[in-house]
Amino acid sequence: MEILFLGTGAGELWPSAFCNCVACRRAIAHRSTGARIGACVLVDRKYLFDLPPNVALAAIQRGISLAEVTHLFVTHSHQDHFDPGVLTATGRGGGQPLHLYCNRRLADLLPTYQQFNRWFDPDSLNLNAHVLAPADTVRGPEDEFILTALAADHDTTGGEKPLIYCFQLGPKTILYACDTGWFPDQTWQDIQKRQYDAVMLDCTFHDLQECRHGHLSTGPFLEIKQRFEKEGLLKSGAHFIAQHIAHGHQGNDPSAQQLADRFGRHGVQVAYDGMIVDI
Ligand SMILES: [Zn+2]
Ligand SMILES: [Zn+2]
Ligand SMILES: [Zn+2]
Repeated sequence: MEILFLGTGAGELWPSAFCNCVACRRAIAHRSTGARIGACVLVDRKYLFDLPPNVALAAIQRGISLAEVTHLFVTHSHQDHFDPGVLTATGRGGGQPLHLYCNRRLADLLPTYQQFNRWFDPDSLNLNAHVLAPADTVRGPEDEFILTALAADHDTTGGEKPLIYCFQLGPKTILYACDTGWFPDQTWQDIQKRQYDAVMLDCTFHDLQECRHGHLSTGPFLEIKQRFEKEGLLKSGAHFIAQHIAHGHQGNDPSAQQLADRFGRHGVQVAYDGMIVDI
């Protein structure tokens, strides 16, 4: 299984469009390694987790077409995780069906997006929405994958139930867990039913500030990794990856190399845009 990190940032993007801090200027200077669009991974060029702004361009810059994507798993409605504009006027009209897996809140918002952009028409875009609630499990066509939605600890505005995903494809199992704080008890119970080849976990605030709810910072992130290890939830050689890295606008953000050094001591990879993990 190939996991391509098309985006590894948070809602602020890094560099931020109108931010002139030291960290943003550094990211522009080292744009090949320092820039982060919203968090998003592409699995086997076919399964896309979240749809941030600029994802189409990010794929193109890496020589990849999103035309092969048949399944889109969206965690929640925040703009850095679902940008309807990406689906609009990008050649999807009349294209092959795109299976969209999302929570009820996002499905309910789909007609609203059309009010802002009349070209966002779920029917003409051939979107096939599958609404998921926490603990729901669905199978892909001809059982090609098993997807389990789990509850995240994240923003519930509008009654939304943000999701994280367990994805099983053949013998491989991955956990995609952005955005979330400390997992709710039920989510822990469901997570414990499997062993993982790769865990991609929210580390939004890394060393910028302490955070345990809504998102995670370094301390709680490493506590979760320790719990995975203690409970034997990681397969031999499993990858444990920090994803959804925020920019704090103060100019004191660690560089990609500093983050890699900081987390590498704990056996954690810090995702960067364009990173590929083969499992
Ligand atoms: Zn986010
Ligand atoms: Zn900045
Ligand atoms: Zn969010």
